[in-house]
Amino acid sequence: MKASAFSYARATSVSNAIELLVAHGERAKVLAGGQSLMPAMNLRLLAPEWIVDIGGLSEELHGISVNGDRVTIGALTRHADLLKSVEVAAHAPLLAEATGQIAHPAIRNRGTIGGSLAHADPASELPACVVALDATIIARGPAGERRIPATEFFTGVYETALATRELLVAVELPPVSRNSAHFFGELARRHGDYAIVGLAAQAIVENDRLNELRTVFFGVSDRPQPAKATASLIKTAVTPASLSQTMKALGEELDPPEDHQANGAMRRHLAKVLLAQCISKLLDRPELGAGGRP
Ligand SMILES: Cc1cc2nc3c(=O)[nH]c(=O)nc-3n(C[C@H](O)[C@H](O)[C@H](O)COP(=O)(O)OP(=O)(O)OC[C@H]3O[C@@H](n4cnc5c(N)ncnc54)[C@H](O)[C@@H]3O)c2cc1C
Repeated sequence: MKASAFSYARATSVSNAIELLVAHGERAKVLAGGQSLMPAMNLRLLAPEWIVDIGGLSEELHGISVNGDRVTIGALTRHADLLKSVEVAAHAPLLAEATGQIAHPAIRNRGTIGGSLAHADPASELPACVVALDATIIARGPAGERRIPATEFFTGVYETALATRELLVAVELPPVSRNSAHFFGELARRHGDYAIVGLAAQAIVENDRLNELRTVFFGVSDRPQPAKATASLIKTAVTPASLSQTMKALGEELDPPEDHQANGAMRRHLAKVLLAQCISKLLDRPELGAGGRP
């Protein structure tokens, strides 16, 4: 199938892109890497009247910078750039590891971090990572710039806190603490497929304890879902029994959807498996990983 007819405007600057969005409102869609928007248009799931192409705004929107301990990633930074970046590897290895799981090289060469976050697919890797990292999403619109905590940015399936007339311009990551550790895992039918269930976690590990822990599941809800149950593992000596208790509580907390890939019970089970793997890796205690086995 081919996309419906649309008008095309190539933005010449971020201000110009916002002017175009203001002019065309709900009838317009921003085009970044096109890896989600174009398939959706070709399948006629979306039929915008106007396409506002921001692909030429690399000078303003592309790149990774480190200011003090903070890393800022421009919206047009491609998945492939994240994978190559020494800054991302040093300051946000969780993001680098997760990006390696997105689709295939051809898609990673075109897809952008801004597009992935604005698209807000509940099975996507990067939305869960920015929530786990406690990042801030920077949006710009006719009224100026807005900083939105990643924890408040995702509001539903393909829905975010961005207004129609706003552009996502960057993502800011907080400083990495000493002794920080991460885990990223996803279970998919084939490498490169969207995850059935995934888990992004960021922690501070000191003296064999998890002094901080942020665990965010994806593929289990309409948006990235931080797990409340894992709070019981913080600042205590984790034992197979306490992990098992937490896994049980996690199962009660999650209410995953059913689709053609898996039913809710299977997703709940896989989430528990990932949690056991996560805690085992973070604490470097292989015996805890067995906690996820049926
Ligand atoms: C075969 C295939 C497999 C894939 N597998 C995965 C996968 O495993 N995991 C995964 O996460 N993704 C996957 N993707 C999607 C891919 O990662 C996309 O690149 C990404 O989701 C969107 O980035 P984009 O730059 O291409 O955005 P686009 O397709 O250009 O835009 C996506 C949406 O975001 C909006 N948008 C884009 N940029 C901005 C901005 N700066 N401000 C405001 N709105 C904006 C657009 O209007 C549109 O609604 C897959 C895609 C394909 C085709």
